[in-house]
Amino acid sequence: MTTRTKLVAGNRKMNGALADLAGLDAITSYFSANGKKPAETVICPPSLYLQGFVQKKSFFKIGAQNCHHEEKGAFTGDISAGMIKEIGADYVIVGHSERRGAYHEDNATVAQKASAALRAGLTPIVCVGESEAIYQKTESVAFVTAQILASLPAEFDGKNCAVAYEPIWAIGTGRTPTEEEIAGMSGAIRQAVSAERGADKAAALRILYGGSVSDKNAAIIARLPDTDGVLVGGACLKPESFIPIIEAFSF
Ligand code: PEP
Repeated sequence: MTTRTKLVAGNRKMNGALADLAGLDAITSYFSANGKKPAETVICPPSLYLQGFVQKKSFFKIGAQNCHHEEKGAFTGDISAGMIKEIGADYVIVGHSERRGAYHEDNATVAQKASAALRAGLTPIVCVGESEAIYQKTESVAFVTAQILASLPAEFDGKNCAVAYEPIWAIGTGRTPTEEEIAGMSGAIRQAVSAERGADKAAALRILYGGSVSDKNAAIIARLPDTDGVLVGGACLKPESFIPIIEAFSF
């Protein structure tokens, strides 16, 4: 039987400053003092701050928010997965809806980025999620399962990637799907991956939920079957809102 460990990832997006490193100390002190074993926790700062965050990492792992799919070359403004690994990070988010939308990243590009991450020794968090229009048409499951099958890299072995289901309409809006919808989507993703990539790989895959996760709903999400953690945006920016979320997935 596969045991999947819980994963809580915080996507800081283009927010904050180096001074926010102090917030990491507050989170570390909290968990050192309360004796709980915190969930595996990843902080994803803006790329310019990666090194500062890596130097501070204690129980945290650090991730980037994006990488280029090539190892090097004339790609002004980009960073490679190898560079992210070299400075000591462990994870990279690929295919976030904000990048799929604003930078026109399609599933094939996302799969190439995930592949580059794996070759560099990073764990990609592959994001998928439907628009409000697709949700209203009740076509979310068909859309998202097709998206994940086309976004997973050839090297996927089950535990070397995580998936984050993030409905676009839930990101930063305070709206979330129902518990049944989140659980149903996690199950549908696992089933689709099982059918195409094999049951063992699907059983090992960690599937996260993202979109307006907060200290109010984290404990509910933590109990859902097939949902192995969360990808958190706004609520990861302050220790007081991030600590209860990490705690909900801790034991
Ligand atoms: C995100 O953008 O990955 C996200 C989940 O944002 P928020 O938690 O703010 O909705």
